[in-house]
Amino acid sequence: MTFTIGVDLGGTKTAAGLVRADGSVTFRVTAATPAASGPEAVLATIVDLASTVIDSAPGAVIAGCGIGAAGVIDPVSRTVRAATDSLPGWAGTLLGDEIERRIGLPVATVNDVHAHALGEAIHGAGNGERTVLVVAAGTGIGGALVIDGALQSGRHGAAGHYGHIPAEEAAGITCSCGRVGHLEAIASGPAILAAYLRRGGASAADTQAVFARADEGDALAAEVIAIAATAMGRAIGGLINSLDPDLVIVGGGLASAGARWWDTVVAAARGESMDLLTGCRIVQPTLGADSAIVGAASLVSAA
Ligand SMILES: [Zn+2]
Repeated sequence: MTFTIGVDLGGTKTAAGLVRADGSVTFRVTAATPAASGPEAVLATIVDLASTVIDSAPGAVIAGCGIGAAGVIDPVSRTVRAATDSLPGWAGTLLGDEIERRIGLPVATVNDVHAHALGEAIHGAGNGERTVLVVAAGTGIGGALVIDGALQSGRHGAAGHYGHIPAEEAAGITCSCGRVGHLEAIASGPAILAAYLRRGGASAADTQAVFARADEGDALAAEVIAIAATAMGRAIGGLINSLDPDLVIVGGGLASAGARWWDTVVAAARGESMDLLTGCRIVQPTLGADSAIVGAASLVSAA
């Protein structure tokens, strides 16, 4: 049997696993991401974890290593084109070349959101479907379109930034990208907290606290969540109209926040969908924490 290594590199934690061709993960290892120490330390951590995975399976045939990494990853040159403050100095890193040279195996690279989406689309909730739209709603809002198992990453590897679609609910609010009026500025987790505080809500530690207050009867908390979920759902409806997917998978921290958010998103998506498309299925992910490892690994087995 041939295995692949999947790596999920985030701003705080890096995970690696040994993955079978069917997408099952047989061994996992994690480490803190030394983000503040710079790209060289991050690369060394990936190599350490990959080596541990290789050592876990003596004699196994390992076809290569797929890495899902934070930042915009160029799909051809395998370099980091852009990164956020969560990985200082990460932009410009020759991710694919450096890891390939150090572990001696073929390496494929992909953005971490795309890795999650690929895993879910191929081996998770989207298994067996042709056109799968994956949306992740949490700290940020992103996702990917996967057609016949192939990620549609776009010219710059940047496709799937669904949080940066214009949304009327976000009118006048500055987005994390610097533009004004994008979906993420009203519908992400931090945006829900910000809206609650901006409109006079009592001090709240985090977005979860706003959800808890809504459940306790706080009308303002319920309203800002409803506005966020409606904006998210309307955007998904618009994507359904433009892509006609077989299935939409909606994951991320907000998707597991309960029926208040989920039911509003689905209703808004249905309300925005054209008559022909109102039956498009909208479901939750099934792979849990393994999705990015499995998705990144799939890039190697597909090669
Ligand atoms: Zn934006």
